[in-house]
Amino acid sequence: MPPVFTPRFCAQCGGKLVANGGLNSGGAPFYCSGCGSPVYEDPKVAVAVIVENGDGLLLLRRAQHDQAHGKWILPGGHVDRGEVVARAGVREVAEETGLEVEISRLVGVYSYQDNPWVLVVYAARPVGGELSAGPEALEIRHFTPEELPWDELGYLSTAHALKDHLSRG
Ligand SMILES: [Zn+2]
Repeated sequence: MPPVFTPRFCAQCGGKLVANGGLNSGGAPFYCSGCGSPVYEDPKVAVAVIVENGDGLLLLRRAQHDQAHGKWILPGGHVDRGEVVARAGVREVAEETGLEVEISRLVGVYSYQDNPWVLVVYAARPVGGELSAGPEALEIRHFTPEELPWDELGYLSTAHALKDHLSRG
């Protein structure tokens, strides 16, 4: 996941933010030295999709140069503010794999202590399009459950979601 930066300036007045120490303003982590507004750090929401057909589960090998570069991940990405989460999943799958999918169910919601990301994972089946790796993938392929590259997954959440999906049968 991309880095999440700590806010430094007030969105209301542009004043410098000061760490609050949780002592006032309802425990907000920062307050504005200009207007006194409390400032909260909201979680970031991402979506990923387990696309399954007769050949197995679709994974892509991440092209971006970050800690997950070259590792296998699920298609997915940021949810834009105001966007329906499942629709963001469908959009990301289309951008990254060329496939049109239909969401079949929610697999789970994954969050971790001190990690700003909350990941929503859906299962889906392809209903159209043509499989082709977008610029964010070095490679894209199906894995049967037995072939899944558990030691080469990009994120802990990828492994947790795949296990949850497979354990449901
Ligand atoms: Zn302010």
